[in-house]
Amino acid sequence: MKRVLITGAAGFLGSHLCDRFLLEGFHVIAMDNLITGDLQNIEHLFKEEHFEFYHHDVTKFVHVPGKLDYILHFASPASPIDYLKIPIQTLKVGSLGTHNLLGLAKEKKARILIASTSEVYGDPLVHPQSEDYYGNVNTIGPRGVYDEAKRFMESITMAYHRFHGLETRIARIFNTYGPRMRLNDGRVIPAFIGQALRGEDLTIFGDGMQTRSFCYVDDQIEGLFRLLMSDCNDPINIGNPEEITIRDFAQEIINLTQSNQKVVYKSLPVDDPLQRQPDITRAKELLGWEPKISRSEGMKRTYQYFQSLPKEELFKTAH
Ligand code: NAD
Ligand code: UDP
Repeated sequence: MKRVLITGAAGFLGSHLCDRFLLEGFHVIAMDNLITGDLQNIEHLFKEEHFEFYHHDVTKFVHVPGKLDYILHFASPASPIDYLKIPIQTLKVGSLGTHNLLGLAKEKKARILIASTSEVYGDPLVHPQSEDYYGNVNTIGPRGVYDEAKRFMESITMAYHRFHGLETRIARIFNTYGPRMRLNDGRVIPAFIGQALRGEDLTIFGDGMQTRSFCYVDDQIEGLFRLLMSDCNDPINIGNPEEITIRDFAQEIINLTQSNQKVVYKSLPVDDPLQRQPDITRAKELLGWEPKISRSEGMKRTYQYFQSLPKEELFKTAH
């Protein structure tokens, strides 16, 4: 039986990866320090024979007994309000954490996939973003803690690949959404849906003309799975190229939730990228992958999930 270690397993993407790998017949070793994650995301897995959980901070030495075939390194704060609140931990998990996991992969002769991000392109001057674009990141800006941690993560991963011959995969993940996002994580989808459900106005940052391209989680997990199983060492964008302005997106959410909320405008956070859209030519050619789930279908499923949460969850929201 193949054994996979998934870090960040109690988070949004990590928990969906655990589900997928169990379904594929793997033994799943989940690891998380719960800094932004929630055990509720994986509590349904604790009864599974081939699932185990380690409560551990990956910036500390990582030890896993037995063989390991694959490692997926997903531990990291991922939403702007999280990484602005815990900037040093964000830098450490991208640097020290990644170093520890590369060391573990080397010891176990395991293949490792790291969760990089569209944020390596910063506020991009090239549109859409393809993998050969080097990016436009403000190293010393508030978002730099996340962006530079991820850029370092890519560099050290390629160094382990080149120097030690490690089998490495780099996923540049673009905005992904779906069930198990935290209602109060500050990312735009939980923020807008939470506001609609509480009967509050939707807060648009800036003039709302900035764009994002949202990928439903099931499509993302399929892309990640294919990337891990492929032989691509170079970074690959995984995201949905369907682009929308935040202003139009707020209107879509008002329509979806059939709420009569208004929108209010707040200042744009420093270094907030003005446009973002993945060029997924490489993923199509090398992985035979492209997203299948439309935004309207994905948003319907996501809204149903947030509606099904206990009412008190709604009021834990603060940002
Ligand atoms: P999340 O916050 O839901 O999950 C991250 C998990 O990592 C949490 O459970 C958290 O407790 C855990 N974690 C953080 N630091 C840790 C540490 N030092 N040791 C052990 N566990 C730690 O975020 P997510 O959206 O699921 O993102 C997962 C990964 O994917 C992150 O690396 C993120 O940078 C990357 N990513 C996500 C998106 C997205 O749209 N969701 C986009 C680009 C990249
Ligand atoms: N955003 C917004 N209102 C909110 C939360 C976010 O207008 O309440 C904007 C944010 O400024 C950004 C976009 O929505 O331009 C996506 O933000 P998110 O935090 O989801 O992701 P990221 O900026 O990391 O792509």
